[in-house]
Amino acid sequence: GCPISPKAIVDDACVSYATLDKLNARVKPAVDDLTKTTDFFSHYRLNLFHKSCPFWDDQNGLCGNIGCAVETLDNEEDIPDVWKVKELSKLEGPLAKHPGRAPKEEHRPLHGELGESVGESCVYDHEDECDERDYCVPEDESAFSKGDYVSLTKNPERFTGYSGVGAHMVWDAIYRENCFQRSSFPRSADVGISQWPRGPAAMDFKQVMEAAGRQAQLDRERLREPETPFVASTGLESDDECLEKRVFYRVVSGMHASISTHLCWDYLNKTTGLWGPNLECYMERLHGHADRISNLYFNYALVTRAVAKLGPYLQKPAYTFCTDDAREDASTRSKVLKVTQRAALVPNIFDESVMFVNGEGPSLKEDFRNRFRNISRLMDCVGCDKCRLWGKVQTNGYGTALKVLFEFGKDIGTSEDAPVLKRTELVALFNTYGRLTQSLMAIGQFQKMAAEAEDQR
Ligand code: FAD
Repeated sequence: GCPISPKAIVDDACVSYATLDKLNARVKPAVDDLTKTTDFFSHYRLNLFHKSCPFWDDQNGLCGNIGCAVETLDNEEDIPDVWKVKELSKLEGPLAKHPGRAPKEEHRPLHGELGESVGESCVYDHEDECDERDYCVPEDESAFSKGDYVSLTKNPERFTGYSGVGAHMVWDAIYRENCFQRSSFPRSADVGISQWPRGPAAMDFKQVMEAAGRQAQLDRERLREPETPFVASTGLESDDECLEKRVFYRVVSGMHASISTHLCWDYLNKTTGLWGPNLECYMERLHGHADRISNLYFNYALVTRAVAKLGPYLQKPAYTFCTDDAREDASTRSKVLKVTQRAALVPNIFDESVMFVNGEGPSLKEDFRNRFRNISRLMDCVGCDKCRLWGKVQTNGYGTALKVLFEFGKDIGTSEDAPVLKRTELVALFNTYGRLTQSLMAIGQFQKMAAEAEDQR
């Protein structure tokens, strides 16, 4: 079969939605097993509370703090606790501190102080090392000792009520990273963090953000796919948009679509107090937007390819899953391999080799990487703890997938030069894959529900 070219994305002549859905039926159980039952993949270490938003002053109520989000709910005091944004976005389960830094020469696992119910046995990694080939900001780049461990299974990504101006500012800023050409508004990459307006200087910031938001909307419209499900060619090349820029947009839009899918799928019904799928939410955010669903499938193909490519690298005996217990290590490894093998079931699912090769392509690579890093920094501007957690997991996951696709050669299993993957990158990659497998399943179910609702009309 022919691969999905980033040019064609999901094309029924090559890999169709149906093929990816079929693949997903095989992949999803294996990913669920890996991410939900192993200690290594069900916990994530990150700097959740100690970094402030580097791009705007989040103390002055202009952006995504809980205050902004709460504002958008009517009569907050009248509604039950369980429904409140603060409650919904609260993190559950033990939050353990990193036990400290191990001497670098000692490449042996340490016993962490993670609390009994966490069951994590190894905490040491090369996480503090920054590699120029990274697409994300290493979580502990600035403050190694401030990382927290969070249980991903106890904090599922779902509806939190986070919305309004705070959430929109973050999405707008994320899409603005897509303007590869320099606009009058300084992109986050164009200015050092310290140069951003803070305190009184932030007074004009709202206006600047509004203008930037309008620009982002224009950019989005310009880059949007035609509203047809199977797109052989978007024609954007002739519109002066190169492939790489379009791929960047697709990754972001696909991530946004995936987040929307999860919050619609696991939604809190205000009246009954029960969690479940909300068809109306899906209809509004996804159903009429074939481009968003197409971008979601695009991400599925891209991450699947990265996971499949990683298989030989993770088979290397040198890769241990941070446990003293050989049996546990072997069990985690076999679960990982099951996922990588199933991900490889559709050969050539995505052809990354056409990117960064022609025209300005090679010089765009660094730009692409820097923009992705900025998106990862923007996660510190998300004003809801659970959303920030999953936002960080997923940006790191996509960043890792891009790193595997574009920085690792074909001989990934044997090459001495293969970049080191940090523990957080691996965990993020497989959990992001898990999120995508869940999204495909949910979209399929929503489509059935929508057809049934239509029949009943
Ligand atoms: P938004 O989703 O905020 O979208 C804003 C605008 O972007 C839309 O009006 C549309 O023009 C455009 N747009 C929407 N989707 C796409 C797409 N796929 N591609 C291109 N353009 C698009 N809320 C939760 O309940 N749970 C969460 O876990 C959660 N996580 C979040 C993580 C991050 C990083 C961010 C920034 C927000 C998160 N939110 C979460 C909030 C949620 O994403 C929405 O912002 C919120 O529900 C408000 O939705 P909305 O309908 O106003 O549109």
